[in-house]
Amino acid sequence: MNLIDGKQIAAEIKAKIADEVGKMIDDEDKSPHLAAVLVGDDPASQTYVASKEKACQSVGMMTSVYRYPTETTQEELLDVVKFLNNDPEIDGFIVQLPLPNHIDENVIIEAIDPKKDVDGFHPMNVGRMVLNLPAYLPATPYGIMQMIEHAGVETSGKNVVVVGRSNIVGTPVSILLSRKAKNANATVTLCHSRTENLNEVCANADILVAAIGVPEFIKEDMVKPGAVVIDVGIHRVKSDKTKSGFKLIGDVAFDEVSKKASQITPVPGGVGPMTIVSLIQNTLKAAKGEVYA
Ligand code: NDP
Repeated sequence: MNLIDGKQIAAEIKAKIADEVGKMIDDEDKSPHLAAVLVGDDPASQTYVASKEKACQSVGMMTSVYRYPTETTQEELLDVVKFLNNDPEIDGFIVQLPLPNHIDENVIIEAIDPKKDVDGFHPMNVGRMVLNLPAYLPATPYGIMQMIEHAGVETSGKNVVVVGRSNIVGTPVSILLSRKAKNANATVTLCHSRTENLNEVCANADILVAAIGVPEFIKEDMVKPGAVVIDVGIHRVKSDKTKSGFKLIGDVAFDEVSKKASQITPVPGGVGPMTIVSLIQNTLKAAKGEVYA
């Protein structure tokens, strides 16, 4: 079994981004600028935003975080989005999800200028992705695609099974892998909680993408011998084997599945670092005006 080392692949991509940012600073006296909007005090969201900030800074990009309390109204948040849409200093921005229940996420996402939507969640970017036009690809699916490419995994004509159909992971991954494009051309089955005979469907996959949100859901009997397994899940669980008392695990039962897979992504150090590096790639593209040229 080969481990697909997302941390290492992300580090290689980051080094290239840092070079490009360095050139931009030398040539244009300008560095790409990512803003993040954080509403409320969800600890996971705070951790995600902090790691995005850190990753940007590590390649020389500028970051700003706009923090607002949970009681912020939808109208107030829309004003923040409008402000960032019009701020020429900001190349791209994200509104960290989930938002408090009284705010309609779709209303906020649709208010973001698609040219600054580096999360790739705006319907314009989703539509362009579906049509295979230049678009900001959502970070996790983009990271998975790059990971598959770097690991030299053949996708053309292969049976891919994606478990989970969320708008941010499962559905876009299934679209990207089934497109008529380089490193795609797969035959994709998208599974969800209503899928019948899920075990058998998964066991037919040459490439299995697990984005379910249930710890260690994918067991050894759901995996074909020699399959490539991409584990998107992240769960913080108690552990008596670590100093912190916690450890991260994925949606795949790694110990048993890794014995059967030909290649597998670890958690941590797999899809997570690829997600963050993909967001900063989108920010670089935004600063260079590459997507909406
Ligand atoms: P969601 O909860 O939005 O979606 C989960 C999907 O899994 C749904 O489509 C659901 O089906 C399906 N599902 C749930 N239970 C079952 C089941 N028993 N059988 C079959 N399908 C099932 O999750 P996300 O896509 O947002 O995230 C998935 C995982 O990835 C989470 O662990 C999350 O933390 C992680 N994640 C990791 C990222 C990273 O950077 N590594 C980034 C984003 C997410 P239905 O639609 O029918 O409800």
